[in-house]
Amino acid sequence: MTSFFYNPKKAVTLYFTEITNKNLKYMSLAISQVPVAFNEPVRNYAPGSAEIKSLISTYKKMWKNKVEIPMIIDGKEVKTNEKVSLHSPQDHQHTLGYYHKGTKKHVDDAIKSCLAARENWANLPWEQRASIFLKAADLLAGPYRDKINAATMIGQSKNVYQAEIDSACEAIDFLRFNVEFMTELYSEQPISADGIWNRAEYRPLEGFTYAITPFNFTAIALNLPTSMALMGNVVVWKPSATQIYSAKVIMDILIEAGLPAGVINMVFSGGAETSKQILEHPDFAGIHFTGSTEVFQSLWKQIGENIHKYKTYPRIVGETGGKDFVIAHPSSVPSQVATALVRGSFEYQGQKCSAASRAYVPKSLWSDIKKIMGDQLSEIKMGSPEDPKNFVNAVIDKASFDKCKGYIDRAKKSKEAKVIFGGKCDDKKGWFVEPTVIETTNPHYESMEQEIFGPILTLYVYEDKDWHKTLKLVDETSPYALTGAVFAQDRYAINEATKALENAAGNFYINDKPTGAVVGQQPFGGARASGTNDKAGSKMNLLRWVSARSIKENFLSPTDYKYPFLG
Ligand code: NAD
Repeated sequence: MTSFFYNPKKAVTLYFTEITNKNLKYMSLAISQVPVAFNEPVRNYAPGSAEIKSLISTYKKMWKNKVEIPMIIDGKEVKTNEKVSLHSPQDHQHTLGYYHKGTKKHVDDAIKSCLAARENWANLPWEQRASIFLKAADLLAGPYRDKINAATMIGQSKNVYQAEIDSACEAIDFLRFNVEFMTELYSEQPISADGIWNRAEYRPLEGFTYAITPFNFTAIALNLPTSMALMGNVVVWKPSATQIYSAKVIMDILIEAGLPAGVINMVFSGGAETSKQILEHPDFAGIHFTGSTEVFQSLWKQIGENIHKYKTYPRIVGETGGKDFVIAHPSSVPSQVATALVRGSFEYQGQKCSAASRAYVPKSLWSDIKKIMGDQLSEIKMGSPEDPKNFVNAVIDKASFDKCKGYIDRAKKSKEAKVIFGGKCDDKKGWFVEPTVIETTNPHYESMEQEIFGPILTLYVYEDKDWHKTLKLVDETSPYALTGAVFAQDRYAINEATKALENAAGNFYINDKPTGAVVGQQPFGGARASGTNDKAGSKMNLLRWVSARSIKENFLSPTDYKYPFLG
């Protein structure tokens, strides 16, 4: 302290600074190995098992308790005067509680909190960051497993199994694998010539980052902000209004795992207003988005318009819509095709970005496939996820219900289409839409081309001799390119489809349904109108959240400007 005059306030401040050791940074004295990542085993939830009893009892308790969900800004709970009620898709009259809606001021506070936290977070040794997210994975796998699954079942209407593979297993996998991928990335180092040492440093982006997440996967809601934070970035996270119920559990886990204040700030403000404000900020450094193509394109346009305002070119990563296909070859096995269509189109009510929503079936196999699909669909039960026997639950909200009903009603009236299975919609208690199959004679019928995001599959029967033409049709029908599947026993046909559909899907399946990508096994993402294909749950994605710095050190620095050629 250099002050001449004793200032007790200053002295106290200085003392405080010293004991909090903000300036004393622990540097790692080892090249640590992280625990080897593995895919979290999926629980079975067999009828009568202890697992299912425990999960359903948690569901029932949570259903009765009203929650109040604040935003989290700078590590503090922030409540506002605008409380918005939360309802469950399976019972729209039942109030689950409230969330506190934020305003422009809260978004401002979240940005400030990010910028204040940035230095300490970016300078924290990577092992310390990794520990937080590995701990979060273990909290999810153990003490929080029932809670996150029940929250996803209640708030997003997923059945037991769909909740388990998403909010438990995939979320845990993202956390564990990303830590491993981070160390692989950090280990990528350049070669060094004689007398010099070259190093690569993977700096976090300069500024703050922005995560906008969709309703349909709790795991995506967790992954988008945490993958950026893991790499040393600070984040404003705006979850979907229809996923806030499980977003709160995610935030509780991250805080319990030791995430410092300000690193991830969760705001509940309107998507368009929040984005406008954030995308105008000079310190905005990157966006991690998952949601519809239309919203992503509007965000990209805004970034373009604001490009001159930023300190650095922002990273833009978006995983967006799909119109995912299944094409069956005349050599395929009807029971395999039918099962893939039933599971791939109707699990989670078709609200997976990867859900099969258009199918191409050869005439020679159609009656067999149709019979098996009909038998399977007739067994499927629809209702609340509280009863584990229900395979199909409700769609997310009224807007989705109305959209699905619109497509079904138009198909019922169309000359080119016929509803061959399902078609009933019931919104008395919840937003229930029966698994519906539309058969069309027009391969460009509206529901063959447009993303509906509901339990509706449209199917076109082609002449067997038109296999080649049909491959071209599959490739050219939709602007999207997310997932797709071919079913065939004929290896030449498999090879041909793999080549012809090379750009039609970022995740391509052979003799399997097009959903259910597993972290570390099938990195996920599509191109064309389906996104930037930065493959969530892979090293490719983490690379987007760092800005590499090359460091060259010369051990024998030259002392004469003359090169040998000068003599
Ligand atoms: P959505 O686009 O309606 O919403 C996504 C997020 O964007 C939400 O947080 C929402 O609040 C926000 N948002 C909405 N309007 C906005 C605006 N004008 N400006 C900024 N933000 C805005 O999508 P959704 O209904 O939550 O999710 C379904 C969509 O997500 C589907 O199109 C689906 O294909 C896509 N999706 C894609 C993937 C993938 O990996 N490709 C994964 C999951 C979902």
